[in-house]
Amino acid sequence: MVAKLKDMNFFSPDLQRYTEQHTSPESPLLKKLDRETNLKALYPKMISGHLQGRLLSMFSNMIRPHRILEIGTYTGYSAICLAEGLAPEGKIITIDINQELQEIVKSYLNEAQISEQVECILGDAMKVIPKLEGCFDLVYLDADKTNYSKYYDLIIDRVEVGGYILADNVLWYGKVLSNDLDKLDKETRAIKKFNKKVLEDPRVKNVLLPVRDGLMILRKTV
Ligand code: SAH
Ligand code: CA
Repeated sequence: MVAKLKDMNFFSPDLQRYTEQHTSPESPLLKKLDRETNLKALYPKMISGHLQGRLLSMFSNMIRPHRILEIGTYTGYSAICLAEGLAPEGKIITIDINQELQEIVKSYLNEAQISEQVECILGDAMKVIPKLEGCFDLVYLDADKTNYSKYYDLIIDRVEVGGYILADNVLWYGKVLSNDLDKLDKETRAIKKFNKKVLEDPRVKNVLLPVRDGLMILRKTV
C-alpha cells in the first residue's frame, strides 16, 4: 500500500514513535534547529530530523570520512549530523542554491563549533561540483530529485573505491510504485530512473533502506 503523501514514512505512526523513542535523542542544538526550520523555512518537511539524522551520524561514525560532499544543505541539519563522524582534520563541503537559508546555516554551524570543518558553497550544484577538486569518501545526495542521475554521473568518479554515496528520498512518498510512466510527475520518473541506474551499475553495491522516505546506500567497489 502506498503511504499517505504527508506521512513521509511507511510505518504506522505508533511504530515510528517507538522507533524514535528507542533511538539516541537528538542534541538540544539539533532540536532547536528543527524547531527554527519549522518556524522560518519553506517546506520544513525536507529536514532530515531525529531518526534520519541519527542514522546519518551513525553511518558517518562507521565510515570516519575525511572528505564529505553534501548536495543540498537546506538549514544544515544533515551537515551537522554528518560532521559528527568526521575523521580528525576531516572536512565537509555542502552545496545549496538557496541563499535565504544561509544565515540559519551559518549560525548553527557556528553554535555547533564546526564552522572550520564545513565549507558552504552557494550555487547550483550542477555547476559547482565539476569545479571541486579532489575525491570524497562520503557523498550525501539530497538536492533536486530530477537531477539525481546527473549528480550521480558527476560524482561517481570522485568517490574513492570503498567510499559511499547516500541518496535520500528514493521512495519519493511511495510514488515509485506506480508504473504508469505517462502520468508520473518528473521527480518520480527521475527517482525511478536513478534507482534502476544504480542497481545496474557494476561499479557499486547498493541497499535501498526503507527508512523514512527511502535512503539508497551505495558503496563503490571498483
Ligand atoms: N539535506 C537537508 C535537506 C535538503 S532539502 C537535510 O537533511 O536537512 C533540498 C535542498 O536542495 C534545498 O535546500 C534546495 O535549496 C537545494 N537544492 C535544490 N536544487 C539545487 C541545486 N540545483 N543546487 C544546489 N542545491 C539545490
Ligand atoms: Ca531529504
